[in-house]
Amino acid sequence: MESKTVKRSDIERLVREALSKKLPGPPAAGSPPNDLKVNISARHMHISQANLEVLFGPGHRLEVLRPLYQEGQFAAKETVTLIGPRNRIIPNLRILGPCRSLTQVELAFTDGIQLGFDLPVRQSGDIDNTPGGYIMGPKGLVEIPKGIIRAARHVHMGPVDAEYYRVRHQDRIRLRVKAAGCTTVFEDLLVRVDPSFKLEAHLDTDEGNACHMEEAESLELFA
Ligand SMILES: [Zn+2]
Repeated sequence: MESKTVKRSDIERLVREALSKKLPGPPAAGSPPNDLKVNISARHMHISQANLEVLFGPGHRLEVLRPLYQEGQFAAKETVTLIGPRNRIIPNLRILGPCRSLTQVELAFTDGIQLGFDLPVRQSGDIDNTPGGYIMGPKGLVEIPKGIIRAARHVHMGPVDAEYYRVRHQDRIRLRVKAAGCTTVFEDLLVRVDPSFKLEAHLDTDEGNACHMEEAESLELFA
């Protein structure tokens, strides 16, 4: 009997441990290891080196306008014009560097309304069955068959943050933005964990305006 009881409690403990590791739970005790930054991503484009050279000329390299919060990422000096499926345009679309393997355009819903179509909400890189369009640069035009999306709201974090918030890569978490008379909770922030990431949530301009981010008094991630 004694050994059975021990086994049962062992199993219960193991199950509890497994569940607590798998499911987002309350943050670990103590204060967060890193300050949370929430930045608003204005509409932008990621681009492949091949497409960049069509738009800006052979051998062209992106020039840094200003560095972004994530290491190595930057807003480039280069901008393009996006031409949507009904020949409606979005001018001055900024390119973010460095170049990637995929060309992808990230817009807010308001931009989608301007272009005249519903934007699919996708995580970066997941662009199958998404709308395409034309990109015009000073030296040429590129047709992109797909890749115009509204980026899913998300938070970048390193492994230490992930442990604190008890989440894993691709989990979902919530973000509360406290602002006087306008406190907003965003659900379903996609968690993206990588050792190179600094703790930073990305919202688009529609979301940033909705929660009055400029007046935010506090920011909090919670399960
Ligand atoms: Zn991001």
